[in-house]
Amino acid sequence: MNRVHDNKPTSAALRRDKQPQPHTGDSYRAPLRVPSGTGCRECGAVYDNGRWLWCATTRRTSQLVCPACRRILEHAPAAELWLQGCGYLDAHRDEVLALLHHQAQGEQERHALERLMRIDEQAGGMKVTTTGTHLLRRIGAALLRTHHGRLSIEYRDGDGLLRARWSHADSDV
Ligand SMILES: [Zn+2]
Repeated sequence: MNRVHDNKPTSAALRRDKQPQPHTGDSYRAPLRVPSGTGCRECGAVYDNGRWLWCATTRRTSQLVCPACRRILEHAPAAELWLQGCGYLDAHRDEVLALLHHQAQGEQERHALERLMRIDEQAGGMKVTTTGTHLLRRIGAALLRTHHGRLSIEYRDGDGLLRARWSHADSDV
C-alpha cells in the first residue's frame, strides 16, 4: 500500500506565510494562533486552549479542519500497525476486529485526535492505520494482553510515522 504524499492541505488550513509541508508529525500539529472555540468543520471537535476536544454543548464557528480529519482526508496516518497473518489470526479474526474497534472507541472518546482510520484486510495480514500514536500503542498493548504474540514498534525520525508489527508466536516459528 502506498501512502499518499502529493495531497495538498486544504486552503483553510494554510497560513499565508507557510509552505505546504511533507507529512511529518509537525505538519499535523494544531495551527498557530487558532482562537479557542474554533471548530472542525468535518467532525465538530473544538479547539480549546491548545487542545482539540469533543464539545456537545453549543454550536461553535467551524472554520478549520482538525489535524485528525486532515490526516483522514489526506490519507496520511500518524501510525500504522501490521498484523501478520497466521492461523491464529484467521481463527480469531472477529475477536481481533472487535478489539480494534473497542479500543478505538475508548481512546477517541477521551482524545478527539486519536482515531482509527482504516483496517485493511490483505492477503498476508491486516493493516491498521490511526490518526494518533497513542491509539496505536493502546491497541498494541490490548492485543498482547488478550491474544499474546509479539509486538515491535519502530519510530524513525523524519518518517513521521510510527510503525508497529504484531505477530502471533505461531507465525514466528
Ligand atoms: Zn475534525
